[in-house]
Amino acid sequence: MDPQSGDGTLATASTATRVHVLGAGPVGLLLTALLQPMSGLSVRLYEKRREYTRTRMVRLAAYLAADSVEAYRADHFDGDNVEAVFDPEELAEGLAFRQSIPSDLMALLRRWSQGFCPLNTIERSLSDLIDARDAHPVQRIAAALTAEDAIAMLEPGDVLIDCTGSRSLLRDHLVPGSGDANGDANTLSFVFEHALVVTFLYGQTYVCNEYCKYYKNVENPRYKFIPMVHRVCDDGTVSHVTGIVSVSAEEYEAMPKQFDGEWLRGNFPNVAQSMDRFIDKIKQETHGELVGDLEVIRIPLNLYRARNATSRQYRGAGAGDHPFATTPVFLAGDSAIGSPYFQSISLGFECVMFLAGLIAQRDRDASQDMLDRYESYIYKQWLRVYMQSKMIKNNKDLFESLDEPIALLDKMHIY
Ligand SMILES: Cc1cc2nc3c(=O)[nH]c(=O)nc-3n(C[C@H](O)[C@H](O)[C@H](O)COP(=O)(O)OP(=O)(O)OC[C@H]3O[C@@H](n4cnc5c(N)ncnc54)[C@H](O)[C@@H]3O)c2cc1C
Repeated sequence: MDPQSGDGTLATASTATRVHVLGAGPVGLLLTALLQPMSGLSVRLYEKRREYTRTRMVRLAAYLAADSVEAYRADHFDGDNVEAVFDPEELAEGLAFRQSIPSDLMALLRRWSQGFCPLNTIERSLSDLIDARDAHPVQRIAAALTAEDAIAMLEPGDVLIDCTGSRSLLRDHLVPGSGDANGDANTLSFVFEHALVVTFLYGQTYVCNEYCKYYKNVENPRYKFIPMVHRVCDDGTVSHVTGIVSVSAEEYEAMPKQFDGEWLRGNFPNVAQSMDRFIDKIKQETHGELVGDLEVIRIPLNLYRARNATSRQYRGAGAGDHPFATTPVFLAGDSAIGSPYFQSISLGFECVMFLAGLIAQRDRDASQDMLDRYESYIYKQWLRVYMQSKMIKNNKDLFESLDEPIALLDKMHIY
């Protein structure tokens, strides 16, 4: 459905708390769907896109649908990080909130966390679910907002949540005095690497496993294609394969955002050869052929966070007449934290579940307390994803040097 097709009249608009959700990507949509049934709220969802067209396949973490602490911590590495960072009471509170999620929404989360699916399927399903709930209409506003628009529309008592993605509308406006001058005023960012995300279809069943990463790359000293094992799937006749190849910053700059195998062969033959060798090894094993060409997009794999994920600085500074001094503002999803190895939607979903829980308790909590609790939660999620991403990057670095013992030893930090 068209992202802007919904239109609601707000029956209780005069008394309800107005919640402005900026951005109807996956995270803004989930947040809206969580807030929608809550009494005393009137939710306004702002989006600039006319259609959901992003077909890339995404995978959500199994922990999103967990119904026990054990299930939440099932991933070997992430589970330990979670135990190290979160108190047992916090985990219990998070699980209790999950159990209160309406069954229509929970069913979707369960389905998506079992495999992987197109991003626009997630967006459309959430959007349709929101539009179908007649009892609690959401007002949908088609607009490409500016930060000034967002600030100007605020009234006393409102809540503002920025879900506008990695180029967040408000992230760098949350520090008094920084305004629009410095693009990094409120952002801590680590560039881990530059990569090509390569996707191709293969006309046979290809069962990918961890060993493929090594032995199909043995003759590739550079530009190893690392398939994402859990994203390789097949429908019985065609396998869908996605993986990444690291490139230098200079190579990255010299490439367009999106291209195909033919462009790669013409412009970066060494990278293309490496891909072709990997695919040839699949062919030798399974006697299939590539279906169509490679689809390639270049992305910087960086890990970042908003140093302030709320308007606490304005409130703390008592910045009198600025609306952020009295209106609680929150960043969620890629607006608040971005992670390099494809965990961001799950992280964003996790954060909006917590935020929805805070908003549900808003009568009990003063705004300052809400801001503090959200900041603390976001910081813990940041530690969690930081530890996991560093581990993945370190493992990738070691992998690149597996056949060179000296280089390998150089990268290992044992004591
Ligand atoms: C190739 C690739 C593969 C990926 N795979 C995965 C994966 O497997 N798992 C995973 O978890 N993540 C994955 N990701 C990351 C994931 O796609 C993002 O983390 C996710 O889309 C972020 O969701 P969001 O809602 O926070 O932001 P976005 O998806 O960026 O949505 C922001 C929304 O806000 C709207 N908006 C922005 N500015 C304005 C404005 N000024 N006014 C009005 N509307 C505005 C935008 O139009 C958009 O709809 C992948 C990313 C890439 C590039």
